[in-house]
Amino acid sequence: MPDGKPAGVRCVQLGPDERCMIFGRADRPAVCGSLRPSEEMCGNSRDHAMVWLERMEAHTAPDHNGGLI
Ligand code: SF4
Repeated sequence: MPDGKPAGVRCVQLGPDERCMIFGRADRPAVCGSLRPSEEMCGNSRDHAMVWLERMEAHTAPDHNGGLI
């Protein structure tokens, strides 16, 4: 994704098994490698992780007003 991955858009490198297809390769974006998952982020289900991600996307959106969602 040469112009970056917009929030809410599935990464082209995410395979049908929900795994990164370029994991471990040098061309994997540095930001991906720097992400440190946590229990707070991942929870115990995909649904929990998706809610957390959606909140992070909302909080880091350019037009976010700084309030809680
Ligand atoms: S780790 Fe990065 S490159 Fe891999 S699927 Fe996720 S966003 Fe895409």
